[in-house]
Amino acid sequence: MRYRSLAFIPLMAGFTLVPVFHAQPPEPPKQKELSWDVLLKRYNDLNAATATDHCSGDQIDGLASLFRNIENQVVDEYANIDIGEMNVSAEWHRQIIREKPIVTGTQANTVVDRIMRRLVPKMQNPVYRHQYWVVRSDEINAFAIMGGRLYVHTGILNFVNSEDELAFVLGHELGHNEKRHCVRSVQKMVFLESALGEYGALAANMANVIGAPFGQMDEYEADEYGLRLMRAAGYDPNRALDFFRKLKTRESYDTFEKLTRSHPYSAQRENCLLKIINEG
Ligand SMILES: [Zn+2]
Repeated sequence: MRYRSLAFIPLMAGFTLVPVFHAQPPEPPKQKELSWDVLLKRYNDLNAATATDHCSGDQIDGLASLFRNIENQVVDEYANIDIGEMNVSAEWHRQIIREKPIVTGTQANTVVDRIMRRLVPKMQNPVYRHQYWVVRSDEINAFAIMGGRLYVHTGILNFVNSEDELAFVLGHELGHNEKRHCVRSVQKMVFLESALGEYGALAANMANVIGAPFGQMDEYEADEYGLRLMRAAGYDPNRALDFFRKLKTRESYDTFEKLTRSHPYSAQRENCLLKIINEG
């Protein structure tokens, strides 16, 4: 598959402390001159902003983080690539419903519907018209793809002990969509490939993007979004902590969005949420 080699490149989509909502469709590509001065300035700005951020400053450091942040900045600044988001999303959706058993009319659908009907109206200036599906699978998982589509495995409904917990998970996935993490992952893939001198049309490389970790910053950002959204919708944010307390007892690399080494551990995510809850 064309992009397979890129699947191993850390795809840290979307590190923006001040979220930028792009109008649809995405703006055409803009070309700017690359310079180290510009990159270093961006990095210093990023560090200054990070110091006041909830969770990122003290937990994510080191060279890997530096390079990922610069990579994000480069993609954001220099490669706002039009990937045909809505068309790609529709194609991926066709693949998903071909390959995964979608369930309708079950208790799980009722619960997910009920939660989404409370969450979505509380979203401020949503970018997307959100759509969602329930997938029959024992895997504790939920995932979002670009274009405002998200999918919930029945396994996660069995894992949670309350609708509040599930509201957090759904809010988290809505956050990935609204913050356009998936779009930026694909933009980065295309940008990196073109930077390597090999151009190609964006094929339906869903497996690589969904299989790739969003990265720690994106997870924290989606966690915060989910927590604030569930709270706005009247759910108990403390139940989001329950979710991570349970998850960390079975921390492994195959739960919750295919946890990987670049995925923050549940204990860290729980601490971050606790800070946000305490801040009110
Ligand atoms: Zn996530």
